[in-house]
Amino acid sequence: MTPKQVDLFVIGGGSGGVRAARVAAQHGARVALAEEYRLGGTCVIRGCVPKKLMVMASRFGQEFSDAAGFGWTLGERHFEWPRLKAQVDAELTRLEGAYGSTLRNAGVELHAERALLEDAHTVRLTRSGERFHAARVLVATGATPQAPAIPGAELASSSNEFFLWPTQPRRVLVQGAGYIALELANLLQRLGSEVTVVLRGEKILRGFDEELRDHLQAALVSQGLRFVTGAALTSITRTHRSGLGLRATLDSGEVIEADAVLRALGRVPNTAGVGLDVAGVALDAHGAVRVDEFSRSSVAHIHAVGDVTNRVMLTPAAIREGQAFADTEFGGRSVPVRHELIPTAVFTTPELGVIGLTEAQAVQQHAAVDVYSANFRPMKATLGGGSTRTLMKLVVARASDRVLGVHIVGPEAGEMIQLLGVAMQMGTRKADLDATLAVHPTAAEELVTMRLPTRRHGG
Ligand code: FAD
Repeated sequence: MTPKQVDLFVIGGGSGGVRAARVAAQHGARVALAEEYRLGGTCVIRGCVPKKLMVMASRFGQEFSDAAGFGWTLGERHFEWPRLKAQVDAELTRLEGAYGSTLRNAGVELHAERALLEDAHTVRLTRSGERFHAARVLVATGATPQAPAIPGAELASSSNEFFLWPTQPRRVLVQGAGYIALELANLLQRLGSEVTVVLRGEKILRGFDEELRDHLQAALVSQGLRFVTGAALTSITRTHRSGLGLRATLDSGEVIEADAVLRALGRVPNTAGVGLDVAGVALDAHGAVRVDEFSRSSVAHIHAVGDVTNRVMLTPAAIREGQAFADTEFGGRSVPVRHELIPTAVFTTPELGVIGLTEAQAVQQHAAVDVYSANFRPMKATLGGGSTRTLMKLVVARASDRVLGVHIVGPEAGEMIQLLGVAMQMGTRKADLDATLAVHPTAAEELVTMRLPTRRHGG
């Protein structure tokens, strides 16, 4: 059978692929897209969305206890994992359906199976065997959880399996201390599991501002999360041949028994078995597709967006790259993507919201830096209880008065940092924040009312 001709074949129906396919079709291109698992990809099906819903579920316990301080008397309460799971799954199915209809309405031809490149222009669907001749190909295959080669590694769950757990394990061991590890560990613990986090380093969240790392780690410990630092797992075995219990041995010799081991040690670009080698697409040392600012690979008509390029592994980055690709290749506009000033959140409780340089990075890059910070008890805690304090921090270049970084730990930090991202894009100066009237009483008002530096570096 002669291959079907398309202007664009998109491999992967996640955040980046879906956006690119829809916009390219709206620009008039003939587009086909293959997704081997579920439309929506990692973010919608087994990432951001189910995670955030579960984080929301995990916050009610504290809300219920706080309510007593505000005059409420509540009856007996208990949490049922299967009920939450059913609700979350129904929402994911709804979203998956919505993605399908949006793409079909835009004219995208959808294929629910795996696709791979046979040569630089030919895409083959592996189940049906159907072939396409594509003028352009977009690789949007995402990333996959990293698995350490230790005995018994197959007994651990990755985040992919976590979202399929039918029941809540009583004791969980989490490997890793990046944002995904902490979000899942924290929500499990707040929903009633006993959670131990094992990390190689001494501190969580490598790459974040040191003060935030310390603040969050202490807050998580005070909630009952146990950290075993400077350690790694060497093996996992079953406690009983037929039972569900697991025994994890650490390199320190410590043995931890758990009902589930969740490994969250990072994600690697999903480039294996896609036929990129036969198409001549160059990969970098981490196995990511090497691309330029237009997401163009080493083969001019093959592009790649999202996690598979290992630039910034976040949904908004994948979407931005997908949109820019479609506008550039099919919309007659040349849109490069720059990965600077990315506001980001960590949905632990308390939440983190950050943008820009950490204090240490700012001091390295600028001769004189002022740090303004506020550390306070959230208003709700005055009647509600709870000991976690909010921390807000502005990192400012003294010479130019430019705000270089904003770092927040506390309720709604993600919402706050989204809006501060706008100000940062506009090159906000400390004087602009000072000139902004506060909204009272809010936590965010602290960001515009810090007058004296808490620390001065250089100059
Ligand atoms: P994906 O969304 O992974 O999509 C790739 C798709 O390609 C997949 O659906 C896959 O099945 C399909 N595929 C792969 N190979 C083939 C093939 N050969 N043929 C057909 N289909 C194929 N980001 C945030 O911004 N905020 C968050 O809060 C957040 N939370 C996260 C929580 C977790 C637990 C995880 C794992 C990730 C989270 N992320 C978050 C990251 C975010 O999910 C990713 O950055 C985003 O999904 C990347 O989009 P993508 O299009 O590159 O890849």
